Amino acid sequence: MFKKILVANRGEIALRIQRACRELGVKAVMVYSEADREAKYVKLAEEAVCIGPAPSGQSYLHMPALISAAEVTDAEAIHPGYGFLSENADFAERVEQSGFQFIGPTPESIRIMGDKVSAKQAMIRAGVPCVPGSEGELPDNPVEVRRIAKSVGYPVIIKAAGGGGGRGMRVVHTEAALINAVQMTKAEAGAAFGNAAVYLEKFLQNPRHVEIQVLADTFKNAVYLGERDCSMQRRHQKVIEEAPAPGILRKLIERVGERCVAACKKIGYRGAGTFEFLYENGEFYFIEMNTRVQVEHPVTEMVTGIDIVKTQIMVAAGEKLPFTQRDIVIRGHAIECRLNAEDPYKFTPSPGRITTWHSPGGPGVRVDSHIYTNYFVPPNYDSMIGKLIVHGDTREQALARMRGALAETVVEGISTNIALHRELMVDAKFMAGGTNIHYLEEWLSQHKR
Ligand code: ADP
Repeated sequence: MFKKILVANRGEIALRIQRACRELGVKAVMVYSEADREAKYVKLAEEAVCIGPAPSGQSYLHMPALISAAEVTDAEAIHPGYGFLSENADFAERVEQSGFQFIGPTPESIRIMGDKVSAKQAMIRAGVPCVPGSEGELPDNPVEVRRIAKSVGYPVIIKAAGGGGGRGMRVVHTEAALINAVQMTKAEAGAAFGNAAVYLEKFLQNPRHVEIQVLADTFKNAVYLGERDCSMQRRHQKVIEEAPAPGILRKLIERVGERCVAACKKIGYRGAGTFEFLYENGEFYFIEMNTRVQVEHPVTEMVTGIDIVKTQIMVAAGEKLPFTQRDIVIRGHAIECRLNAEDPYKFTPSPGRITTWHSPGGPGVRVDSHIYTNYFVPPNYDSMIGKLIVHGDTREQALARMRGALAETVVEGISTNIALHRELMVDAKFMAGGTNIHYLEEWLSQHKR
């Protein structure tokens, strides 16, 4: 096992990784920008390094600052968390070239999965079900493009190979609009991602977002830890996640999970990863892979009892996965609410000083958050200030626990979305389970204030 690792992130995930290190007996070096000097995990750290001013381009995204922080502290490995440089293949490469272990997959795996066209091709080869569409990048010839769209059937969606964060996509309903849409998406993709390649897929009308968590070691062992339903989204940002996904046959999950494991083995994947799918009419369609730990990983930890972050560190240190597929049992139901510093209905960010913070507790309640009374939420980063996670024997019990936990939670001094979560936890359709990816936006437009 490593003696010391550098945590190249901030906020709740920095604290989460610090906690995993403490349990493993590994020293965690925390980094911070000038805006994060007062963060809880920095104050609790045995060692912490300031990596630059508040703007992330000069701190959390600044590769030389992170690598020299690892050098001066004699860290052996770097955990990238999520966001920032976690899916940047060049960073992973520079980390390894500088003699540190990158806690994540190889730069090659990140590169293949970061390009949606090559990711999809790798998935098709591994037998993972994908959305019907073009075989790879769309050709330049408009006649060919029309033929492909026609064979797939309208509506179709044009997507940038290098796209991310819900950008670089355009839905096309008719042949008349096709060529113009392709050209516009190409131009935008070239400007935004430095890669003008686009591909085409069938546009699914009312899918759910269901994803499969995997873990793999460097000895060709890989397992899947069941699924998460993350359909409650606003502007492609997840708001509530749960595990398992309500109303989906276990047999179906098992079949898709096994394909994901096969894909991991085929591409030599190592570490934690997530295969994201759209699910519609009993079918799974792969859309992309995330080659890092995800915000919503705790719901899987709660139902499997497996510590995903600890396992990431263990396999990066060259250890074997300490369990096989047969050991993985899904127990009960878990729900996560993301707590954001924002207006609960207008969604304008609300940074500032937290004057009061009472965190909830009790059986089956977990709080992953770096905030505290008197903590200043900096305006420079993502508005997420933590996550409330509950576990129950059944979905009903988990919902009841979440209602209780939300009732106990007090945040004063800034606005948060707690009020929105309280309403959603008593919404009849959400309580019934299985809402699709449009449901939250529709709900919000009907509950305007
Ligand atoms: P990103 O990397 O930008 O998040 P994804 O490929 O994961 O892009 O897609 C983001 C979202 O766009 C999906 O969660 C879904 O809401 C929508 N989407 C993507 N592909 C399709 C499709 N073929 N049909 C319907 N919706 C889609």
